[in-house]
Amino acid sequence: MYKAKAYSVASATSPFASATIQRREATERDVQIEILYCGICHSDLHTVRDEWNSIMPTVYPCVPGHEIVGRVTKVGSAVTKFKAGDVVGVGCLVDSDNDCPSCRADLEQFCHNATFTYNSPDKHGAGPVTYGGYSESIVVDEHFVLRVPGNLKLAGVAPLLCAGITTYSPIRRWGDLKGKKVGIVGLGGLGHMGVKFARAFGAHVVVFTTSPKKREDALRLGAHEVIVSTNQDEMARQAGTFNFILDTIAAEHDINAYINMLGLEGNITLVGAPEKPLPLLSFALLFGRKSISGSLIGGLKETQEMLDFCGEHNITSDVEVIPIQKVNEAYERLVKSDVKYRFSIDMASLKGE
Ligand code: NAP
Ligand code: ZN
Repeated sequence: MYKAKAYSVASATSPFASATIQRREATERDVQIEILYCGICHSDLHTVRDEWNSIMPTVYPCVPGHEIVGRVTKVGSAVTKFKAGDVVGVGCLVDSDNDCPSCRADLEQFCHNATFTYNSPDKHGAGPVTYGGYSESIVVDEHFVLRVPGNLKLAGVAPLLCAGITTYSPIRRWGDLKGKKVGIVGLGGLGHMGVKFARAFGAHVVVFTTSPKKREDALRLGAHEVIVSTNQDEMARQAGTFNFILDTIAAEHDINAYINMLGLEGNITLVGAPEKPLPLLSFALLFGRKSISGSLIGGLKETQEMLDFCGEHNITSDVEVIPIQKVNEAYERLVKSDVKYRFSIDMASLKGE
């Protein structure tokens, strides 16, 4: 074991504070990584504030962070994919059983024995639970480490490891989007990546936002049209015209209003994970044989495919880079949907702590 600097919270109502955590020494298959940037995902906030208590209660102290980019400092003797100095990424997963039907299908995110990057029981015993990327370093099995294309700015790469793959995966799975009308609901960290991917796959992209002041940004990010969802006239004009809608909203909202925007056999996929159930009016689905689905991040193979796609198309997240000392302020802004469009923590700021 060795000691690493981190930022942690002591309870659901405590602010972040500087802390020291234990990391395991790299074993045979492990890669030790110096963390350069870590994105702030709304899932970090749900976890830190124990908003998912009924499903995944938070164990404190909690060190979140699953949008990690860093440089390899050490590799175990059996590691073949990486060497010291490589720039790599780590997302939401750090382990799985590698043996079940999900793992064999490259869908490690659905493995019943998956270990998430933070707040999962730590099989290696460095802590009671895993500790995430708001830290100076991390040690990860090489299967869960991703190659980062050399042409991309690293602060904007970090959010690809969660916001990127979570939107890329369902958009890709939907099929050929050329000429199709795709709605992205919520222009936050996930939503702005959804806009970029849907546009890159040739869709006609429409953003639904509650924030009229984001209209210009939505167009700049690649949307063809923007609907302010609180404006009933704007909503009514486009009802029944969408092929696919990706809903990224982090809070309670009326999904029936978005189902009504779908055309015949249209699909709405939820990736947002509000703490409370969303009421569903079945009639909204019946007329038009519409469907509703969910999607969770992506497997390692697909995450690598997404990163390579971003390298080829020069896609990164639009980030506000902050020092770790501003993390409490950043969380307050995240709750108010006030971030353009992802916070990325510059981990060099941890050195002075
Ligand atoms: P975010 O940056 O906070 O963006 C969420 C956006 O939703 C906001 O910017 C806002 O967009 C909209 N919104 C927020 N509150 C709203 C409300 N009360 N009514 C309507 N719209 C509202 O969050 P994120 O990091 O993108 O994450 C979004 C959700 O996805 C979270 O619940 C997170 O936990 C979840 N998530 C799921 C996965 C997965 O694998 N499925 C992975 C990562 C995150 P406008 O200002 O444009 O309205
Ligand atoms: Zn996330």
